[in-house]
Amino acid sequence: MPEDGIKPASNFIRNIIEDDLKTGRWETHIHTRFPPEPNGYLHIGHAKSICLNFGIASDYGGLCNLRFDDTNPGKENIEYVESIKTDVRWLGFDWEDREFYASDYFEALYQYAVDLIKKEKAYVDTLSAEEIRKYRGTLTAPGTDSPYRNRSIEENLDLFSRMRGGEFAEGTHVVRAKIDMASPNLNMRDPVLYRILHAHHHRTGNKWCIYPTYDFAHGQCDSIEGITHSICTLEFEDHRPLYDWFLASLEIHHPRQIEFARLNLTHTVLSKRKLIRLVQEGHVGGWDDPRMPTIAGIRRRGYTPESIRTFCERIGVARANSMVDIALLEYCIREELNRKAPRVMGVLHPLRIVIENYPENQVEMLQAVNNPEDPKMGAREVPFSRLLYIEQEDFMENPPKSYYRLAPGREVRLRYAYFIRCTGVVKDPTTGEVIELRCMYDPATKGGDSPDGRKVKATIHWVSASHAVTAEVRLYDHLFAKENPDEDKEGPGFQVNPNSLQRLTSCKLEPSLSGATPGSRYQFERLGYFYVDPVDSDIQKKVFNRIVTLRDTWAKIQKKGA
Ligand code: ATP
Ligand code: MG
Repeated sequence: MPEDGIKPASNFIRNIIEDDLKTGRWETHIHTRFPPEPNGYLHIGHAKSICLNFGIASDYGGLCNLRFDDTNPGKENIEYVESIKTDVRWLGFDWEDREFYASDYFEALYQYAVDLIKKEKAYVDTLSAEEIRKYRGTLTAPGTDSPYRNRSIEENLDLFSRMRGGEFAEGTHVVRAKIDMASPNLNMRDPVLYRILHAHHHRTGNKWCIYPTYDFAHGQCDSIEGITHSICTLEFEDHRPLYDWFLASLEIHHPRQIEFARLNLTHTVLSKRKLIRLVQEGHVGGWDDPRMPTIAGIRRRGYTPESIRTFCERIGVARANSMVDIALLEYCIREELNRKAPRVMGVLHPLRIVIENYPENQVEMLQAVNNPEDPKMGAREVPFSRLLYIEQEDFMENPPKSYYRLAPGREVRLRYAYFIRCTGVVKDPTTGEVIELRCMYDPATKGGDSPDGRKVKATIHWVSASHAVTAEVRLYDHLFAKENPDEDKEGPGFQVNPNSLQRLTSCKLEPSLSGATPGSRYQFERLGYFYVDPVDSDIQKKVFNRIVTLRDTWAKIQKKGA
């Protein structure tokens, strides 16, 4: 468990656990698990569950297992298993040798079903899926008993073993719990425990042609592993009576299920079903597209594991569903990189300027501070010369009143360098577009201060043209412009924000970035935090992903709320 220096806040789950520890319900031992189904990549919602399960185990001196709930052979595969392991490890958590699979317990689960049959608490039903649905009743009307409900134990055992033996086609028989077809809780109306699926499983191959349902597998797997607290999301609250019924009927170790609210984030979809569609229909470049809310995407965008853990700590754990503003996630990485990332200068939309009174061929090395938040990070030298690039937006020919940056006749400060004044504008004769500025510098203002006390209203960043590193920069916006994209239920297709990715291929960066290693992070002054894309960068070419801008929208939201 990594040390982040933030004390975990108390929450209702911790209160339950502390009570359980006090009353000795589990003696002194806490055991949790993180139980993903390997049918997609993990997303930021799963990170909440991972931090919670591993965090609680570590804080109370217990253990947390990684358990794959692999009971759906048609939708699962090894790629997903591997990606999940990579992501949990990257987040900083260690399951040691406790990597388990529901499929490891298929034999035990089969025996549990046999046991329920022998106790007359389960039966083989031969109704079709359609009939089973009809017999189930509705929220307001009770269900009806299946005509097969009273088969003898012998007949049930015989049919179940022949189901396992592969004698029957899919959909011909299921095993159901015998509970109560009139229960007000639909989950208790004789739920299905086993169905026939002639499917190849990524771990058990063709050994099985019957597979347990999620409900039947989950609690029993928890029990086998000696889990004490089975923490899951709110939608399982109505399944808890069933969870308890199985364990009580089987008379085996009985973990305590506790539900918490799942994470919802603005501008984001967090359902695996929808994320799979984004990938498969080509709306994004893949599971690790930096716009995706997957752990793989967030990692490739440039977020750190620490920032994700901080985020999960800040959002807390509650029992009521709510929507978290994505600005909080952005705030967490900004706050961390403000302290840690070296600051550099880079120009995204270059505009050439010529310093007319600066000698040709002269180059001067100027001192630049790496991070004013941390003097230990030292300083570096940046070359200054006659030909520079500045940001197109830092010049306006006819500026409005509130614009303080460069304009004809106006003076500004070049960061770490000199004051310059704009003395001429060169335009493309056909398009009229500004293509170059002519400027004069004041040699007395070296370092950025004027000895005569003259003030300028703006400081802008720049790069020496002949020394600049040319790089690609990718700017991102929310994948969904809508604050709550889940409101667009299915729709004909996804309304992906067409401006969510902007690729700028000829950005000019200060020469210190020629050595930037893939996977490193920088603040480009005034522009945001950037990450050297580890997939698309190489010795020749550097690609920088913008993680976030410098604008702290979270602080604004906080103020509004206060
Ligand atoms: P989805 O609903 O996104 O398809 P899932 O719940 O089917 O996800 P699982 O692989 O079963 O995905 O999830 C593993 C664990 O992560 C479960 O305990 C689940 O409750 C938890 N989890 C999934 N989504 C979220 C979320 N948005 N917030 C918190 N926990 C979540
Ligand atoms: Mg699930």
